[in-house]
Amino acid sequence: MKILVPGGAGYIGSHTVIELLERGYEVVVLDNLQKGHRKAVNDCEFVQADLLDKEKVNNILKQHKVDAVIHFAANSLVGESMERPDSYFRNNVVGGMNLLDAMRANDVKYIVFSSTAATYGEPENIPILETDPTIPKNPYGETKLTFEKIMKWYQEAFNMNFMTLRYFNVAGAHSSGKIGEDHDPETHLIPLVLKTALGIMDSIKVFGTDYDTEDGTCVRDYIHVMDLADAHILALQDMVTNRKSNVYNLGNGKGFSVKQIIDVAREVTGREIKTVNTDRRAGDPAVLIASSDKIQEGLKWKPKFHDINTIISSAWKWHSNNPDGFV
Ligand code: UDP
Repeated sequence: MKILVPGGAGYIGSHTVIELLERGYEVVVLDNLQKGHRKAVNDCEFVQADLLDKEKVNNILKQHKVDAVIHFAANSLVGESMERPDSYFRNNVVGGMNLLDAMRANDVKYIVFSSTAATYGEPENIPILETDPTIPKNPYGETKLTFEKIMKWYQEAFNMNFMTLRYFNVAGAHSSGKIGEDHDPETHLIPLVLKTALGIMDSIKVFGTDYDTEDGTCVRDYIHVMDLADAHILALQDMVTNRKSNVYNLGNGKGFSVKQIIDVAREVTGREIKTVNTDRRAGDPAVLIASSDKIQEGLKWKPKFHDINTIISSAWKWHSNNPDGFV
């Protein structure tokens, strides 16, 4: 089976590509390399293209004759999206529609889509269920929710199937040590904490200590990137075999506060990690914890890395061996 992976040179995309290749799939990565790394995808076909280039995307689909798409290409920073809703809607929604239309034109009927916990906004209940209200607090979440709705209507009208995976906080790296998380600029908590442990940064800012949580800092549900990769492949197989569409949360079902993450990182690295308390970051809900019961039951997905020490150790292996990321 041949899979097109837009955004395959990014963090989650590249880890999924390794797993797809490992399991015998043929893979074509499409990436504009604005954030992705060419070196993260050495072992498959690669095409540099931007989803906003409608004609090129159509030609790629025409040429490569893929059976399905796993779509990661998107802008994905909450803070940035608050300042640039224009580029978030253009890239994530218009770009995504170009991809869907190219799929339609070339008779590709299956798409797995990277969505996010940010589609829920400030949750009413914890853990969050797929059926809970979706009221995004930021443009990033809104663009992902919009695309989910577009896929639903494309299914109705054009008989295309989708699998939406709403990720919570992704962390960790591939066990080979060859690929890992490398964003520029880096904004995510775990890589920044580990860069502080490495002495690349003097201190880590704690965004808000007055949330309504046990220690006043935000609580998140961290999931290992390879568990996520596994879920994409299970979702793909289920969709193609049963011609079914669905929406699934992906998390570990356990919450850790910003302060707890920093403490675990101190334990894992054995290093001092200095913190500076600052104001809240705009757009951040206090607590996000997934219920992943639906995917565990429906697709028999089971996270292999449920322990937070193991997840942070895996990220530490990558960061300590590659302090400058992909160079
Ligand atoms: N965070 C923080 N300091 C940082 C980066 C993040 O305190 O330098 C907090 C952030 O406010 C959130 C949590 O860490 O509560 C996880 O943020 P991240 O950006 O890693 O992921 P997000 O939740 O935005 O997907």
